[in-house]
Amino acid sequence: MKFNKHIENIKTYEGGKPIELVVREFGIDPKDVVKLASNENPNGCSLKVQDAVKNIVANMALYPDDSMMKLKAGLSRRFGMDDENIIIGSGSDQVIELAVYAKTNKESKILTNGVTFAMYEVYAKHVGCEIIKTTSTDTHDLEQFYTLYKEHKPEIIFLCTPNNPTGDASDAKEIFEFISKIDSDTLVIVDGAYMEYAKAKDASKAIEPKELIDKFDNVLYLGTFSKAYGLGGMRVGYGIARLDIIKQLYKLRPPFNITTLSLEAASVALEDEEFVKNSIEMNFNEMKRYKNFANEQKIDIIESYTNFVTLCFEKPKNSSKIADALLKRGMIVRDLSGYGMNAIRVTVGKPEQNSKFFELLVEYL
Ligand SMILES: *Cc1c(COP(=O)(O)O)cnc(C)c1O
Repeated sequence: MKFNKHIENIKTYEGGKPIELVVREFGIDPKDVVKLASNENPNGCSLKVQDAVKNIVANMALYPDDSMMKLKAGLSRRFGMDDENIIIGSGSDQVIELAVYAKTNKESKILTNGVTFAMYEVYAKHVGCEIIKTTSTDTHDLEQFYTLYKEHKPEIIFLCTPNNPTGDASDAKEIFEFISKIDSDTLVIVDGAYMEYAKAKDASKAIEPKELIDKFDNVLYLGTFSKAYGLGGMRVGYGIARLDIIKQLYKLRPPFNITTLSLEAASVALEDEEFVKNSIEMNFNEMKRYKNFANEQKIDIIESYTNFVTLCFEKPKNSSKIADALLKRGMIVRDLSGYGMNAIRVTVGKPEQNSKFFELLVEYL
């Protein structure tokens, strides 16, 4: 059977290996498997969320509130926006997908950092458009972005700050300066999946969606409940932009794209600021241990504004071998050799999980 030619070379997305798979493949007891591969919150989610969803499981026969009133009200309060400036996606992934579909076709181009979140490229390939990348393997080089922008006039520019999988963040001031030079026909997507962490660590990296949207008519800001809020399993993310952008994305949104359970979970999670604050505090305390560990072991560690660290190895050490060896011992981390880096990305876990990682890596090295 023939399928669209432009999807021939798309690789199926492989997320962090689920625990179940490691249990089956290596016969390891599930309680001995540690997953530090997908930047999930090691503390789970707020107890208030767990209570709240219990109260609505009796009501699953009804379709969700597709106006998403409660969650939008929460988000608009949080960010000082109007409900009409917000679109909710099944993960911010879905908002990326809608934006790419709304703005590009097979004659278009998108522009991204050399090493960045893989899904931008995947969705661009769905429509067959061309992907232009800078050469940077770490911090966004905005001068290079600008040169490539002038040369290629891409339909969309993706700025991921803090950046995944490297953990570095751009200065908010530089991001604003950059966007001010971009023509309003080009959509600039600012992906703030880890913004809660960056904001807590260094105010100069913090980007407020309201400021962006007040200033620019061509920006879409993205946020997610999958990371700091600990709701990766619920699939909720959001986009914030001017009404005319949101309206276009809404045309492509599948009906009832967020389940009742997920809507409730995200709404309640948003109100439990204490939980998020504590998670972030633990994260940066534990991250100090990673820095010390890396220094002791003479491993290069990228300064991180997120809930993960990126450890870069010198040859002859090989990151994919390291990740494989850890996996066989029940420690799931992300190998970055597919990004052209000799590095692994490790989600900062609970103290005992991190200790185990240090032990296993030392043992291997
Ligand atoms: C995790 C992540 C997302 C989206 O996650 P969802 O679970 O789909 O909300 C988006 N961008 C980056 C950079 C991420 O790391």
